[in-house]
Amino acid sequence: VLTARGITKSFDGQRVLDGIDLDLERGRVLTLIGPSGSGKTTMLRSLNGLEVPDAGTLEVGGVRVDFAGPVTQRTRDTLRDRSAMVFQHYNLFPHRTVLQNVTEGPVLVQRRPRAEVEVEAEALLDRVGLREKRDSYPFELSGGQQQRVGIVRALALRPQLLLFDEPTSALDPELVGEVLAVIKELADEGWTMVVVTHELSFARQVADEVVFLDGGRVIERGAPAQLFGAPRQERTKRFIERLT
Ligand code: ATP
Repeated sequence: VLTARGITKSFDGQRVLDGIDLDLERGRVLTLIGPSGSGKTTMLRSLNGLEVPDAGTLEVGGVRVDFAGPVTQRTRDTLRDRSAMVFQHYNLFPHRTVLQNVTEGPVLVQRRPRAEVEVEAEALLDRVGLREKRDSYPFELSGGQQQRVGIVRALALRPQLLLFDEPTSALDPELVGEVLAVIKELADEGWTMVVVTHELSFARQVADEVVFLDGGRVIERGAPAQLFGAPRQERTKRFIERLT
């Protein structure tokens, strides 16, 4: 579903991504870990067209983009259509209800019939225990509930790839569990996903592969048991020791 090669990106002359390669097969879960500023968020945003790399190639759900050439808005839109992002700060529309937040993308962008989308949205809300909140506004919900809406909004787009950007780092500690439980369920169901996270125990539980980034480069990658249990690189080891 995903192949990234040599993804490179600079901001103001500073190289933030320095030739990243990633591969992910359908139904697998990849987690990106690394220190603050290592480029995790920029890499994730590059996967769905929110950020345009300076160089490299990307293939997501059959869409192939070579960043050496000009990248049109149309290409970015096509790329975006293949994946859906769950943001750190939920990014719900504050003046729309829960149901409107979920249905807006499928109806307005994907042009699917509203009635059908609403039925699907309600079933998804039900799944995460939020059906009775369909007419509430985001400010009436807890952070954990808002993030569950964020996840449902991503699912409603029927993406081939789900992208999570530190989905629990803005939450109060007691609300982290309910959101991680939903993500874990989706992983068990076979959704393909890339998760940027600081929750190493979660990464260990759900990931098929963990990629450790530092300074915009992949320092090490491997199965969680290997990477956490017996890191090969000194930098990986130090990072894990600091966080556990
Ligand atoms: P964190 O864990 O703190 O979120 P990260 O690993 O996700 O960090 P990024 O958010 O990808 O790291 O940022 C990598 C670097 O790129 C940082 O130094 C950041 O300041 C810089 N950066 C990111 N986005 C922009 C931007 N739009 N303009 C300028 N610099 C940026």
